[in-house]
Amino acid sequence: MTRVSSTARAAGIVTVVVAALLGSAYVLGRSLVPDQAQQHATGVTTEGDGPHYADQPAEKSPAGAPAGTPTDIPTTGQSAGPTEAGQDGSGRDAGGDKLFGAHTGTGSARLALTFDDGPDPRYTPQVLTTLREYGVKATFCVVGENAQNHPDLIQAIVADGHTLCNHSWQHDIALGNRSADKIRADLVRTNEAIRAAVPDAPIVWYRQPGGAWTYPVVSVCTGLGMTPLHWSVDPSDWQAPGASKIATTVLAQAEPGGVVLMHDAGGDRQGTVDALRRILPELSTRYELEALPTDPT
Ligand SMILES: [Zn+2]
Repeated sequence: MTRVSSTARAAGIVTVVVAALLGSAYVLGRSLVPDQAQQHATGVTTEGDGPHYADQPAEKSPAGAPAGTPTDIPTTGQSAGPTEAGQDGSGRDAGGDKLFGAHTGTGSARLALTFDDGPDPRYTPQVLTTLREYGVKATFCVVGENAQNHPDLIQAIVADGHTLCNHSWQHDIALGNRSADKIRADLVRTNEAIRAAVPDAPIVWYRQPGGAWTYPVVSVCTGLGMTPLHWSVDPSDWQAPGASKIATTVLAQAEPGGVVLMHDAGGDRQGTVDALRRILPELSTRYELEALPTDPT
């Protein structure tokens, strides 16, 4: 009986300790999710039409661990949970092992703006107009099926002097975990859709959706003559935090040689468009802005 009652007492102590820890975790967890709560409150990312992509979230451990199946891929920015917020990316914190050699900078003092997931007829023309107003050239990381659906926008991007980057056929965040043959087929199909619109435009960059680089995806993309492109400045605009927050983050984190990640598609991107109008006056005086070159070294 003595043993039983001491066991019971021990169990009681454990229960109290566990309850205390759970309480702390709950409080901590609540403190980590204000952005998400705010998003739901404002409904800024609610949207029913069009493709939705999120560039950052899926991978918990891109370096070799499964990055999830296609069913794990978030379909809206809202689906990114609190544990995913904050690991968006930024190449600043990512080690070389995680990036498999993907470029995080321009290799010069110039700053590059990149726009992912398009083209999108609602936002890409607005981005192009704003870039034109400031005489800024940028790089568009386009999704193959969007290129196929909007060849006119691909042509408009190239006609304005911007450069192109392959961003996979359907924004498959888990692409890096598929077979080399499947990766190659995806990237080739995307390039073919782009070239159907702009036969002579070079496509020398590849950006893996979600930044979920793996050795196979880097190997295939370099084998196809493309250079893997990551980023160094990430305002998490895919979460639609509002133009002010996007602009503030970009202006605070921009530095010579940086690559800025933004999105002209994949959800409600009006915040990005509006942020661009706010940041270009200052960015274009602080930095020489460039489209990523078509002859990367
Ligand atoms: Zn993307």
